[in-house]
Amino acid sequence: MSFSPLDTGKQRAISSDGSRDLHEFQRADLKPALTNAIDHARISQRLVAVLMVKLIRADKLDAIVGIPTIDVMRRAMKRLPDILRGADRLVQITDDKVCIMLPNLKSETQAWLAASKIQQTLEAPFSFNESLVSVRPVVGIVCFPVHAATADELIIRADIAMQVARIRDVAKYVFQPEDKRFEEVYSGFEDDLREALRTNQLELHYQPQVDFKTGKCSSVEALLRWQIPERGFISPAAIIQVAEASGLIGTLTSWVLNTSLRQQNDLRRNGADLNMSVNISTVNLADTELPDMVGQAIGTWQADPQKIMIEITESSTINDIDYSLTILQRLKEIGMKLSLDDFGTGYSSLSYVKRFPLDEIKIDKLFVQNMCETKKDQQIVRSVIDLAHHFELSVVAEGVEDDATYRDLKKFGCDVAQGFLISKALPYDALLSWIKKGR
Ligand code: C2E
Ligand code: MG
Ligand code: MG
Repeated sequence: MSFSPLDTGKQRAISSDGSRDLHEFQRADLKPALTNAIDHARISQRLVAVLMVKLIRADKLDAIVGIPTIDVMRRAMKRLPDILRGADRLVQITDDKVCIMLPNLKSETQAWLAASKIQQTLEAPFSFNESLVSVRPVVGIVCFPVHAATADELIIRADIAMQVARIRDVAKYVFQPEDKRFEEVYSGFEDDLREALRTNQLELHYQPQVDFKTGKCSSVEALLRWQIPERGFISPAAIIQVAEASGLIGTLTSWVLNTSLRQQNDLRRNGADLNMSVNISTVNLADTELPDMVGQAIGTWQADPQKIMIEITESSTINDIDYSLTILQRLKEIGMKLSLDDFGTGYSSLSYVKRFPLDEIKIDKLFVQNMCETKKDQQIVRSVIDLAHHFELSVVAEGVEDDATYRDLKKFGCDVAQGFLISKALPYDALLSWIKKGR
């Protein structure tokens, strides 16, 4: 045992009999141990590898067969000491994620081989109450000094490599220089997001949409907002990216649906009977549980499904169109409406219009923002309005920022306007006052 920070009385790494209470292990111990290992490696000219291992189906086992994630993890961890060397260290990061430090390696290949061994060991089925269950480990690999120079970089980049492995659907992935671009986005904030969901730190703001015919606000779009004290505002696009990569998207979408429908109910009781538009991720469209989750939220908040618009974005790829279509059809059967968001920014605009049971198209702000100055943007906007009307779809223009654009859109027959000219997205109380002022 060569790493003193983990060899002290308050050692938190998993012991070789795997019998410790997993809750005792803290991430805080990882950094000093890694710094120590890096210092040794500099002198000995060896490598230090960090493997971030996530058990992919562990939370599903909890939901489906009632085996708590922590128990799955505990059983998985018990197998690892047998295949690790004395100086290797394990630190639990979350219920289904563990970080493994392998000091004193001769080459990257050794790290890759260790990752393969760990993966095979964890993949073998476990028996729980006489039934066999299995998890799918995904491993992110990073080495000092090849991919990172400090303990912080190693931890973050191992996490990124693990996320990339998940997105690419491969079992192991070694961090590549081009993956540095994810650092800003991820920076290990999957755990912050999990915590934010658990402790209700996220918020929804609501952006009003105005009906061109009446000039009144008929609907609002729920938009995610999240402020991490030491990091500031995190963009919803980044939140969604991390949620998708980490498997938290189902929980996040459930939170968004329940929160927006609860506040729609509150608005109604305060005299503002508005339609609610809710964004869902294309990843949700691969989730068989989505229609039930939506049904549950509608039941809980006594929502009128006809007053809920589900927005699916055109800008990210839908992997299995046929399967997504069955999910969308089930949402329609519940009575909800469907909108195609960011129209014109993806590769499949027209095929989605042809195949999906849509009620609305939202023209992306990219075309709307400059339509008064740019003839081609104006022509695109006019054509999309005509196209939508031919399919008997309603059209929303996003990104309406000035009066001239509003007037032109009205002239072209657009149905609904949304943009900073009308209002930015507002917190619930501010929205209610905005409505009460008769905006
Ligand atoms: P989106 O659904 O297309 O939402 C419209 C975005 O345009 C919002 O950005 C809004 O603040 C911004 N916007 C509205 N009017 C104007 C304008 O006049 N000018 C300009 N420049 N921008 C305007 P935001 O809130 O940053 O959201 C970005 C995207 O994140 C959303 O695009 C949506 O795709 C995604 N998103 C937000 N909340 C959620 C959510 O709860 N679930 C999911 N799955 N995605 C969400
Ligand atoms: Mg939207
Ligand atoms: Mg949009």
